[in-house]
Amino acid sequence: MLSARASTLVLGVPLFVSISALAQPSPKPDPVTVIRAGTLIDGRSPAPRLNQVIVVRGNRIETVGDAASTKVPEGARVIDLSGATVLPGLIDSHTHIFLQGEDPAEGGYDAQLLKHGLAFRAARATVSARRALEQGFTTIRDVETEGAGYGDVGIKQAIEAGYIPGPRMFVVTRAISTTGGYNLEGYAPEVDVPKGAQLIDGPVEARKAAREQLDHGADWIKVYMTHRSWLDKEGRLVSQPTLSLEEIRAIVDETHGWGKKVACHAYNGVGLHRALDGGCDSIEHGLELDDAAIAQMVKQGTWLCPTMSVYYDQWAPADTPSGKRDRQRVALHGPSLRKAVKAGVRIAFGTDVGGFSWTEPMAREFARMVEFGMTPMAAIQSATSKAAEMLGMSGEIGVVAPGAYADIIAVAGDPLKNVGELERVGFVMKDGKVYATGWK
Ligand SMILES: [Zn+2]
Repeated sequence: MLSARASTLVLGVPLFVSISALAQPSPKPDPVTVIRAGTLIDGRSPAPRLNQVIVVRGNRIETVGDAASTKVPEGARVIDLSGATVLPGLIDSHTHIFLQGEDPAEGGYDAQLLKHGLAFRAARATVSARRALEQGFTTIRDVETEGAGYGDVGIKQAIEAGYIPGPRMFVVTRAISTTGGYNLEGYAPEVDVPKGAQLIDGPVEARKAAREQLDHGADWIKVYMTHRSWLDKEGRLVSQPTLSLEEIRAIVDETHGWGKKVACHAYNGVGLHRALDGGCDSIEHGLELDDAAIAQMVKQGTWLCPTMSVYYDQWAPADTPSGKRDRQRVALHGPSLRKAVKAGVRIAFGTDVGGFSWTEPMAREFARMVEFGMTPMAAIQSATSKAAEMLGMSGEIGVVAPGAYADIIAVAGDPLKNVGELERVGFVMKDGKVYATGWK
């Protein structure tokens, strides 16, 4: 990087640049596509607009305006979505392309790490990435490879280079927890088994892990601040805290120094409060946010990525300790989100897909968000302009507006009447290229 920049400076005498540019044949102009939108939910405005025309030049949106007053540029390809609702490409801020739902009948989570080689897992991850895109998710924040090392960086590079279709990716690589703070578990102590996350003990190891992951391409750092959870004798949900305050502080300090952010998996209690005191940027799941945590999140501007729907899957039998725990988690989670919404906590849409099968619609999460206190428009914005804000991409993604990347989707029905319509995305454009058409 340093030498390339240096040589550019040496050769970059403006006079010579302009003369050589004149000698080149003029580059092919960017193709222009015009989308006619019957209804446009632009991701940012509080209300939809009717009969809009979106002009896309190359991979960016050039203009958005009323159909009556917008001139269609000569030679433009016209895509007629005048009977549909057009939205920005959706953003899922909590995915796992290296997980596949982990059906216990297929060996569950452990089989992923013990039986499947990395090439096999990477091949399946390419299918996951394509599935996300086909469902209208043009950006994902993929929050841990679960033992697949830096595989997410490779998948992201392959998408960006055009070898495979997939969403824009923000990746965290290996994620961080502590000894006793992550699977695999339950094996004889004499047997060394792989772990799904990078385990650290002490602030020095914590900082070093963050440095390694950032060095190898992490866009965010993901930390597990709680791990096991169970019900105590009074039936209260307890979650095991993992990192100490000094450990999470070392990670946050290091990561912020790189201009990057930290996502913290945290259910409740001590681990949740350490995450907030440590200065984390997003709380993942937040099953039971107490009033103090909510107040601190509002004050610090911490994001909440609730991932509701995954907790409704794969419950253990009702009369077992795990089964009771599974049901209590759901009983707490909805009211927790409702309180956070009411208090004005910033919400980013996330599904934890991979934690459930990629054959399930990712957009089923919208209905849960609406069930627990969000309006359909607020839920849509949590998956568009709000998520873009969290990712530091405001104005570039999550919005249909001039200057943004041309990440555009459409559904046949009205998602403001029924957010379930977002489970049936029929048109997907990413970066100005159409990936999926045909209504399902
Ligand atoms: Zn997750």
